[in-house]
Amino acid sequence: MNTKELDNEYIAHTYGRFDVVLKNGKGSTLYDENGKKYIDFGSGIGVTAFGIGDEEWKNAVEEQLDKLQHVSNLYYTAPCAELAKLLCKKSGMKKVFFANSGAEANEGAIKFARKYSFDKYGERRSTIISLENSFHGRTITTLAATGQDSFHTVFGPFTPGFKYCPANDIDTLNKMATDDVCAIMFECVQGEGGINNLDYAFVKAIEKICNDKDILMVVDEVQTGNGRTGKYFAYQNFDVTPDIVSTAKGMAGGLPMGAVLFGEKVKDTATAGSHGSTFGGNPICAAGACSIVSRIDDAFLKEVNRKSEYIKSYLSKVKGVKSISGMGLMLGIETDKDAKDAANECLKKGLLVLTAKNKIRLLPALNISQAELDEGLKILKEVIEK
Ligand SMILES: *Cc1c(COP(=O)(O)O)cnc(C)c1O
Repeated sequence: MNTKELDNEYIAHTYGRFDVVLKNGKGSTLYDENGKKYIDFGSGIGVTAFGIGDEEWKNAVEEQLDKLQHVSNLYYTAPCAELAKLLCKKSGMKKVFFANSGAEANEGAIKFARKYSFDKYGERRSTIISLENSFHGRTITTLAATGQDSFHTVFGPFTPGFKYCPANDIDTLNKMATDDVCAIMFECVQGEGGINNLDYAFVKAIEKICNDKDILMVVDEVQTGNGRTGKYFAYQNFDVTPDIVSTAKGMAGGLPMGAVLFGEKVKDTATAGSHGSTFGGNPICAAGACSIVSRIDDAFLKEVNRKSEYIKSYLSKVKGVKSISGMGLMLGIETDKDAKDAANECLKKGLLVLTAKNKIRLLPALNISQAELDEGLKILKEVIEK
């Protein structure tokens, strides 16, 4: 059996895969099993932040592989300690808990938002407001946090204690912020929900409610974090400092890793024994992450923003483009075409793009070369204009 046949026979079909077997690559150029070339505008859903086979990342991972791969959180190891310091320096957060995925990071964020409130106010203050059209993960609790009815059908009963506010609706948010609420949880740019930017004024309104009522601001930076939106974290575009931040996707350059970051107010909430993870902070993932996180500095972010402007300016002149949303290198393009059809046409012509709801979604590697960018945009233009 070939790869597609094996996969179709033995993999549980939770994914609608694109019709291609990817085999190898370098940077933002990938090849399938027949040697056909693809420009990658998806970076594995925003995960390979520095592309495929980045030399510095590879060296960092290989060096750590030669030392040790795992010892458990019963012992101190250098890579996760170094990474935690880097993340705090980049974000203004104070402490870090390491997990293995975005959903797990959000589970941690939700647990500690509730614990902060429980420790201070006791029971009955456990409600979390999240936003309509949000996406926070696939576990039972993060599905409950996800503000989309289509995720709340067959897997119930779900974790109680979530209510959903329409994004950018300040009046409704004010009405929802009742005495039982411990946290407001949101993505600054909704990813899976269709690349929807939150308004600056809305995020500032969240900040005010949180300050007035000792409600925690919990920002899901799983997709938007680690340079994706042109700042280290997307909330830095809105001049706020959250109490809790979750992140994952791009952080370790393709290795599975998530993190929960705690601000000043909640930095002592994560007490001994209150949470844990066998693999969390794994030295290999942490070493890879250090090589990624340390290189996302101001000069690098300036380039991310330059490429963002370049793509927006290029696509705004393409016939059939109705709107462009998003920030940095997280962009959603609404066109006359069905987004899935457009993505499949791109694939045929040698370009990998993602979709989010009715939009073509671009999440290229942050270090994509100008040549790869131009080559991919040319294909995208052809497909949109056709
Ligand atoms: C991808 C994503 C998640 C879930 O991450 P997993 O690693 O798949 O568990 C959660 N929140 C947001 C905003 C995401 O984009």
